[in-house]
Amino acid sequence: MRRGKSPASAGHAGQLTRRAAAGAIASAGLIAATGLTLGSAIQAPPASAAIKNGNYDLVPRQVADGVWFVEGAREYFTQDNGGDIVNCVLIETDAGMVIIDTGVSLKYGQALRQAAASLSGLGIAASFNTHHHPDHWFGNQVFADRPIYALGETASLARAEGDGFSDGMYRLLGNWMRGTETTPPTQTITSSSITIGGRIFVLYPLSGHTGADLALLDKKTGTLITGDLAFYERAPTTPHADLPKWYEALDALAAVEAALIIPGHGPEDRDGQSLEQTRTYLTWLETGLKQAAAEGLDMVEIMEETLLPDAFKNLGAMPQEFHRSVSHLYPAIERQAMPLSNL
Ligand SMILES: [Zn+2]
Repeated sequence: MRRGKSPASAGHAGQLTRRAAAGAIASAGLIAATGLTLGSAIQAPPASAAIKNGNYDLVPRQVADGVWFVEGAREYFTQDNGGDIVNCVLIETDAGMVIIDTGVSLKYGQALRQAAASLSGLGIAASFNTHHHPDHWFGNQVFADRPIYALGETASLARAEGDGFSDGMYRLLGNWMRGTETTPPTQTITSSSITIGGRIFVLYPLSGHTGADLALLDKKTGTLITGDLAFYERAPTTPHADLPKWYEALDALAAVEAALIIPGHGPEDRDGQSLEQTRTYLTWLETGLKQAAAEGLDMVEIMEETLLPDAFKNLGAMPQEFHRSVSHLYPAIERQAMPLSNL
């Protein structure tokens, strides 16, 4: 990868990249969709990790009847946040608590189970994993005495990639991961809904953020739990993204017209803005990268020269997540653009 550039190409590339970014937004008609609406949605400062004396200190926030969630820091994994960056949802049923996503580690899972016990004396009824990214299921071993549901493809991916993820998490988080053993989900979802302790969950098998993404609707309250198909006030992650499928999934989730959305990362959303923000960001990203490929820019030029629009520059984990997305997505986009540039 080229690290330096001549003074002449620096100005040229910077100009092109800035123009590409602005052009992408304008040509897709996205300024109106992002600007004031999304700006006004940023009411609270980004959540910080719930850490006290080297332990997770999870305090569930009730957002609907019998529905709580713990919001992770709107950050990337660091030693300071202990990997407490993900949202986990707790839903009360007559058979005990249903847990949706179990967090990043054994230690986190233990804190989550303790938090669930503080809300209900009935114990845990079951857990779900929305997808195979480690921050969403590495707490599973704490919940392994009860069924852990996931899409079949998620279970396969967890088994195939769990050890690799584990190595990465230990490198990033060190002691926070102590004792964590990858424990893939145990039950494969085969139906479009499931009733647990009298509470009905509608299940949406989708994909796009990864090869298999589960969303769940709590029928009683109209609460939609999206996993990482939706991010809110936190930049989306894209290591396994298939963007056309992700847009389709966002369409499907919007059609649910949920009363409340709990995204995979970021605060709860009562008006669908999380879906819109995720779509707008991904569209901007894809359009900008395609334009950069057509202009022949390299990844370093894009990372260094792109000006993040106001609607995105204050999202959690920026600009790092943008840089990561360039490295995830650009090689394939660049390959697609190549035949055209040779004409
Ligand atoms: Zn994810």
